[in-house]
Amino acid sequence: MSGVEYQQGSLAGYEIREYVLEKWQRACAYCEAKDVPLQIEHIHPRAKGGTNRVSNLCLACEKCNTAKGTQDIAVFLKKKPEVLKKIQAQAKKPLKDAAAVNSTRWKLFERLKATGLPVECGSGGLTKYNRTTRNLPKTHWLDAANVGTSAPVVLITKGIKPLKIKATGHGRRKMCVTDAYGFPKHHKERKSSYMGYRTGDMVKAITPKGTYWGRIAIRHRPSFRLGKTDVHPKYMRRLHRADGYEYTYETKGVRDAPPHG
Ligand SMILES: [Zn+2]
Repeated sequence: MSGVEYQQGSLAGYEIREYVLEKWQRACAYCEAKDVPLQIEHIHPRAKGGTNRVSNLCLACEKCNTAKGTQDIAVFLKKKPEVLKKIQAQAKKPLKDAAAVNSTRWKLFERLKATGLPVECGSGGLTKYNRTTRNLPKTHWLDAANVGTSAPVVLITKGIKPLKIKATGHGRRKMCVTDAYGFPKHHKERKSSYMGYRTGDMVKAITPKGTYWGRIAIRHRPSFRLGKTDVHPKYMRRLHRADGYEYTYETKGVRDAPPHG
């Protein structure tokens, strides 16, 4: 990206913004403030002939950006020579890990293409550009729907409830439970099912005491843990077999997605 000029709002602008955010670890280069609105800042000011190349870009919080104005960085930081040195060094550095990621991802792309299946590439910047130009809020699932060049021009999202799938695993492999010092405590039962049920199965239980829904934890006797109560399996009906995943419908409002990695 070293030769690309920064232009806000364009796809290249989004790509560069993501790159600069990553490169400067989402913090103000001058005061290291995080979790504040950050602006793309020209190290050598535009007004004085500074370019829009990524090597001339860093991040600044509103306060530092205003304080710096069109001053040269050496003037602005004349009382903080160590900060000046750090910024100048960081500006020249390419994005950490970029080289390794580049070589592995093209290899992966070629392998996938060799399968004959349709394969396309996307980037964090493109996802954000797609989502923003379609006026969609930032959520994990909307980011997923906006990946790549084949994201539809119009995405109808009204009334859609995303199904959230979380990997819960299949329990621990360890057959022997150890104490804090690593000494064996007791042996775990080898069999992971009992009366056809497994820990993690979703069940509905209609018992004389009431109706219960949820995930069970089996015991090797006919009384399984269901929420806060013990229930005999004869009252249970399995709704979903434990498959190492947890499924929930997201019904709450917009949730923040983490930065792209
Ligand atoms: Zn700052």
